[in-house]
Amino acid sequence: MPNPIADFRSDTVTSPSAGMRSAMAAAEVGDDVYGEDPTINRLEARVAELAGMEAGLFTTSATQSNLLALMTHCQRGDEYIVGQQAHSYRYEGGGAAALGGIQPQPLEYLPDGTLDLKAVLAAIKPDDSHYARTRLLCLENTHSGQVLSLEYQQAARELCDEQGLDMHLDGARVFNAHINLSVQIADITKKYDSATFCFSKGLGAPVGSMLCGSADYIDRARRWRKVVGGGMRQAGILAAACEYALDHNVTRLVEDQRRAEALAAGLSGLSYLTLEAQHTNMVFVRLASADMVVPWRQHLAQRGIVVSGEYPERMVTHLDIDDTAIERTIAAANQFCPN
Ligand SMILES: *Cc1c(COP(=O)(O)O)cnc(C)c1O
Repeated sequence: MPNPIADFRSDTVTSPSAGMRSAMAAAEVGDDVYGEDPTINRLEARVAELAGMEAGLFTTSATQSNLLALMTHCQRGDEYIVGQQAHSYRYEGGGAAALGGIQPQPLEYLPDGTLDLKAVLAAIKPDDSHYARTRLLCLENTHSGQVLSLEYQQAARELCDEQGLDMHLDGARVFNAHINLSVQIADITKKYDSATFCFSKGLGAPVGSMLCGSADYIDRARRWRKVVGGGMRQAGILAAACEYALDHNVTRLVEDQRRAEALAAGLSGLSYLTLEAQHTNMVFVRLASADMVVPWRQHLAQRGIVVSGEYPERMVTHLDIDDTAIERTIAAANQFCPN
């Protein structure tokens, strides 16, 4: 793809900046399977502290973090309660079932990206040999860009405590929630037993995620990481990119949200487009009919603007989308839609 001016498909499409690449080149490294990579050790301790948890485990991807999280909370024949559109259930190849023998109990999301806690309670199976053992509730924050309130997450924690469930956060985009709510990361993550973080979404690193939890939990997750082939060697080169991302690319997430708001404002009220929603760095628009999706995508592509061509269309802002890109996209959409 010849350098598009704006690629809205996802916040994963960013390229590491010159500063990030030089931090990677300069990283001190060692063999992390022996626990000897100083850059990874420093990153694990730093993210654990941010999370308000005892320990961290550097992983290849948020998919791997979620898999390790589920396999560490649950045994074969156990069950986790999760959203129908949750990444860890729908978009991770069924890994928990395929590799962990863990049964999902998916529930429909409410429109605000939460799971109805009454429905969660009703889904918990009785302690009886007919049923899988319900062990875990898995929430996602942000979910499709939507931020979960601290009150909701606290209520979920209380339910889990009453029912003896563990609680895992898929926080691949929890940095966006942290910026949106203006609260500490730990204010969110401390409500959970474990949390996944991702550095290759809005934070702009090429690779890298982190699972955090208690020291004992992370010891057990580390064993599963080795089992699934996730033990890495001189991967401090990658951890250095993540450190750089924490230093430079967290507070600027407010810019992504501001640009998503500007994009949403500029796309609303056009004849062929309905603005469905805007949450943090995501904008959702629906074309007047599904057969407009291909012409829409082509019209934008001719102007150097890349979209997924989904229906509805999700447009995501990130490090490599500036104000000019937003203005040009709004102008292109205006050309596409007759008055
Ligand atoms: C992208 C995403 C993941 C998976 O991240 P990878 O690093 O691409 O494996 C997990 N959960 C959520 C909510 C995500 O958006």
